Amino acid sequence: MKNYRIAVLKGDGIGPEIVNEAMKVLDAVAAKCGFTVEYDEALLGGCAIDATGVPLPDETVAKCKAADSTLLGAVGGPKWDSMPGNLRPEKGLLGIRAALGLFANLRPARIFEPLRDASPLRPDIIGGSLDIMVVRELTGGIYFGERGRLEENGVQAAYDTEKYSVPEIQRIARIAFDLAMKRNKKVCSVDKANVLESSRLWRETVTEMAKEYPEVELSYMYVDNCAMQLVRNPAQFDVVLTSNIFGDILSDEASMISGSIGMLASASLGESGSGLYEPIHGSAPDIAGQNIANPLATILSVAMMLKYSLGESEASDMIEKAVAEVLNEVRTPDIYVEGFRKVSCSEMGDEVCSHL
Ligand code: NAD
Repeated sequence: MKNYRIAVLKGDGIGPEIVNEAMKVLDAVAAKCGFTVEYDEALLGGCAIDATGVPLPDETVAKCKAADSTLLGAVGGPKWDSMPGNLRPEKGLLGIRAALGLFANLRPARIFEPLRDASPLRPDIIGGSLDIMVVRELTGGIYFGERGRLEENGVQAAYDTEKYSVPEIQRIARIAFDLAMKRNKKVCSVDKANVLESSRLWRETVTEMAKEYPEVELSYMYVDNCAMQLVRNPAQFDVVLTSNIFGDILSDEASMISGSIGMLASASLGESGSGLYEPIHGSAPDIAGQNIANPLATILSVAMMLKYSLGESEASDMIEKAVAEVLNEVRTPDIYVEGFRKVSCSEMGDEVCSHL
């Protein structure tokens, strides 16, 4: 029987509560699909600072590198807010992404039919169904380019540099095209090629790569137009491929279409394919320890892990289907509306398991 080794970083705040439910669901789907899962827990963030003095202990990096994939809850909280910059929980997050060489960030934005009303978009704009995957480059561009301050004629100035190399663009484009092949075979590459030279190289490189994927329909869009189209006609998108800074902004915009932060999963991938999977929300210290957090974003992150890192697509689809079904019956407080049964975090995990 196939066995997967998963590194588990529960983190802080609601992290342990939501990850426990995701592990419960992963165990249940594994039993149904005929594979087993072994967990290797490690510390990250505030809990790691408390136990070891640093947000990312070497042991955590080693465990993640040895695993088939990594599941992360969330890190941070008021307890560590006054720590110096390099000792803050978030530093651990950036550190583990760098240590695992994760250069691609995948953020799905989709509407679960029963949560249609939670979307800030009108039903006629959402259309029949909505399922967008934003693929954001994660380790290059302006966030990592040369920056500095200078004085010009007695006036203070500052600069940041947007720079991309062909191999950097190729590897992220390949992720987008490969994903599109498993989805609706459409890639929209988003840039600012009417102004930026780095965008022109981006466009040339993506165009070249498209020749390897004749089945994929490639289109281009300027980032300002894309920001508009996401709220005007979001159903036109399948895979959106873009740079670090544009992806940062567009993925937040796209994810809000689904209406609830407790539902949003994400994946970060590197060369090895093992990846790091986590909900996009934070550690929600305001509701931690009360068993009321919504575990669905973390459960859906597990579904992404099964599909994109473990090659267990059937198990992944089973989880997504179960989540869609439970939303017709039960709700955690963050997505509760009248007419549904209100459930706790752990009850939501049980409900998903029973719908598998
Ligand atoms: P947050 O996402 O933790 O919370 C924002 C709001 O959404 C809160 O009201 C919270 O209760 C609610 N919420 C979030 N997730 C929920 C869930 N699963 N179920 C129900 N409600 C949920 O953002 P914040 O309050 O800005 O940050 C809190 C802490 O988390 C900070 O220390 C921040 O640095 C950290 N953070 C961590 C990550 C991460 O680990 N990836 C991401 C963002 C923020």
